[in-house]
Order: sequence, then C-alpha cells, then structure tokens
Amino acid sequence: MVYDLIVIGSGAAGMMAAITAARRNHQVLLLEKLPTLGAKLKATGGGRCNLTNTLPNDQFMECFGRQGRFMTEALRACDHHTLRDFFRSLGVESHAPDGYRVFPVSHNSLSILNTLEMELQRLHVDVRCLERVEMLHATEDQLHSVITQRGSYKATNVIVATGGLGYPQFGAEGQGYVLAQSMGHTVTPLYPAMMPLHTKEQWVKQCRADTIAKATVRIALPKAKTIRATGDLIFTNMGIRGPVILDFSREITPLLEHYAEVPLHINVVQGMNETQLTEQIKRTLKTNPYQSTQALLRTLIPDSLSYELGRIASIEPQRHWSKQAGSARAKLLGLLVNMPLTVIGHDGFAKAMITRGGITLKEVNPRTMQSRLVHNLYFCGEVLDLDGPCGGYNLQWSFASGFLAGMLGEYDM
Ligand SMILES: Cc1cc2nc3c(=O)[nH]c(=O)nc-3n(C[C@H](O)[C@H](O)[C@H](O)COP(=O)(O)OP(=O)(O)OC[C@H]3O[C@@H](n4cnc5c(N)ncnc54)[C@H](O)[C@@H]3O)c2cc1C
Repeated sequence: MVYDLIVIGSGAAGMMAAITAARRNHQVLLLEKLPTLGAKLKATGGGRCNLTNTLPNDQFMECFGRQGRFMTEALRACDHHTLRDFFRSLGVESHAPDGYRVFPVSHNSLSILNTLEMELQRLHVDVRCLERVEMLHATEDQLHSVITQRGSYKATNVIVATGGLGYPQFGAEGQGYVLAQSMGHTVTPLYPAMMPLHTKEQWVKQCRADTIAKATVRIALPKAKTIRATGDLIFTNMGIRGPVILDFSREITPLLEHYAEVPLHINVVQGMNETQLTEQIKRTLKTNPYQSTQALLRTLIPDSLSYELGRIASIEPQRHWSKQAGSARAKLLGLLVNMPLTVIGHDGFAKAMITRGGITLKEVNPRTMQSRLVHNLYFCGEVLDLDGPCGGYNLQWSFASGFLAGMLGEYDM
C-alpha cells in the first residue's frame, strides 16, 4: 500500500500534521518509536501543558529572535486563537489565568493528549508505536519509502516531526537530523537550552529553593554585555534555575564552548540601581529606625541570601546599618545590584527542555514547511532551527508548523 502521507514522530507537531492531513481525506500513517504517543507533550508545563500564549503574532515572533519571521505563514494559518478554537471544537476549553500563558482549563496535559489521540482514531489515522524510523529512501528528488527497524512503508509524502535532543526519555535522540541530512539538508550546531545552570560559587546551595522575584541577569562578557533577561530566579544545590534562567540558558551554552566560565551579573533588588537602593534603605529605616541590618535586608531579599551576601561583604547582621563599616555597606550595595555568579556548566541535553539549532530554515519553504531540496518532504516542530522562550511559545510553534505541514502545500494564504 502507498500512503498519501507518513508522519515521523507523534509530538505536538506530528499529531497536528497527521490530523490536518487526515481531515483532508488523505491516508496517513503516523510512526512513533516509543510505546505511547506524545510523551513530551504529556510532560509539558509540569504536566499542566502551557499550550500557547496570548501575544499578537508580531510580538510572538520577536521572542524567537532573528529567525522568528520564518513563522509568519504558520501563525497566519494557526495562531493562538485558531489553536484554542481547534481544541475547543474537540471539547477542550483553555484559559489564561495570568492573561498571558494559556493552559487547558483542566490544567492537565492529558486532556490535550487524549483529545489528539481520539481525533487520530476518529480519522482512521494508522498509528504505529515502537516503530523507529532509521532511513528514508529517495530517487532523484523524490522520496518514496520510510524504513523502520520493523519494515518498509511507501508514501507519496513524508513529514519529519521528530523534535529536538532534550529529555531523551521522551523520545528525543536526534535521528530526525540524520534523516534530514541523508536528504541533503544542513543541520546547524545543536545546543541544549532551557535548563538549570551550574555555578562555580558553592555558597548558592545555602540558598537552595529560595526565589528572587524579578531578578535581572546579564552576561558580564564584553562581547555579550547587551544580553539580559528579567524574571524569577531560584537557587539550587549546584547553581541557579527558574524561569529567567531557563530562558537565559540558550545564550549561555554556545558561550561555554569558547569560554570555560561565563560570568553573570545579577540584580536581586528588582532592578534598582545603587542610588535607588540607598533611597529605599533610607525610607525603610525611617519607618523602623532600630532594626538590625539583617531585618533591614529581609525587606529586600530572602534571609539565606542576605546572610551569604552579608558574609561576603563582611557585614555584621545584628548591627544597625549605620554602624556597619562604610566599605562593607558599599560592598553589599554593589552585590545587591550586581551580584556576580560564574556559570561553569549544566546538565546538557538530559535536562534541556529545548534544543537550540536544527534543520536550517533556508532549505525549508515557510509557506508550506516543504523541503526546498526534496519535493515531497516536509518538516515541522522543534526539529527545525527555531527555539522560543518559556511560556507556550514552543508548543504553539509545533502545533502551527504541524498544521501547515499537514496541509501538504495546499494552504490557501
Ligand atoms: C519537561 C518539558 C516541559 C515543557 N513544557 C513546555 C510548555 O509548557 N510549553 C511549551 O510551549 N513548550 C514546552 N516544552 C517544549 C515543548 O514540549 C517542545 O518544544 C515540543 O513538544 C516539541 O514538539 P515536537 O512535536 O516538535 O517534538 P516532540 O514532542 O519531541 O515529538 C517528537 C516525537 O518523535 C519521536 N521520534 C523521534 N525520533 C524518531 C524516529 N526516528 N522514529 C520515530 N519516532 C521518532 C519521539 O519519540 C517523539 O515522540 C517543554 C519541554 C520539556 C522537555
């Protein structure tokens, strides 16, 4: 039998592609190497699935950096409104409790995954698990069969939706890149992104699990000094994590290839500069003139951090602020505004929620997701060289590109 379409990989992108093509009466085969579908999708958002967000398309694309514009047509075809309507039509309501990040109302990724599986079933998509695709066969610029460890399947079109390299237990392994390369495609360097970072400073473990709200993180290297981000930071046994670090790690991993250490400067006082901080301290002391330095610092940062920074600055915690040595006060103010930490490593792809890099976009038509090299080959989702920050960006991209790929070049712009 010759299928109209074989989709390789059952993540958000692959399932959406298979559903879209099957709804257009194509005969579709979906191949997945794991025993079950959508393993990564199930784990998203800590099991709550941050499906998308409410940003307008222009702002959404900007968050992906220079390459973001590649998504224009995919988002035109399937933006966050369309995606939410798609799930609503299948019985899954979504909402944005903070006005920005969108979750299924159930706050359970299974409601998304089960719904996609049921739709695949309803549309008679031939779904086969434990089928790892190992090779593609083509003659000239026409692909004709897909080889798994179990057999060979013929198809008129093939979509590669094999995702990135992060979290191998959810099926990530990089075979999609090998398949694309075998068809002449280029894969840009691959780096783990969205993961915790390890620091040289051991004292961080004394602050583990404490959160700094709205910390501003900046790379203290001359070539990268404009790179900064603001958000919640959490200390760990080994270093730092939290939303701001997850987003920032994509900038760090390529640098760690060139530098053994990447110095960071972190503002832990909600972006205040030294003058503003001094004013703030004066105001606090006016309302409570007799408090110790430790009590004063408690109004700014968690106790564990004030203790560690105080120790580095030679502050005596029980003394009044005015009784500290001038040099100690100056040092502490500097640390609060520009706390230095040194990144020396990370857990690699084992803990990377996203892969930076992928199949180069130049070789893919953004209007169709079709290969520019092989006529009947398409790509969608994270396997392509696009990665966004935390906040529903990567799933929205996977669903949107899956939708466009599943149209098999027939989307009417
Ligand atoms: C823990 C975690 C939480 C996340 N949370 C969020 C979130 O809340 N919001 C958000 O927007 N993004 C989130 N992300 C990122 C998001 O999950 C991914 O970007 C997105 O799922 C990628 O979808 P995909 O379909 O391209 O790939 P995947 O979901 O990775 O699917 C690819 C599939 O292909 C299969 N496969 C691979 N190779 C082969 C082969 N050779 N043959 C057959 N099958 C193969 C894999 O087993 C896998 O099932 C999270 C990621 C992680 C790891």
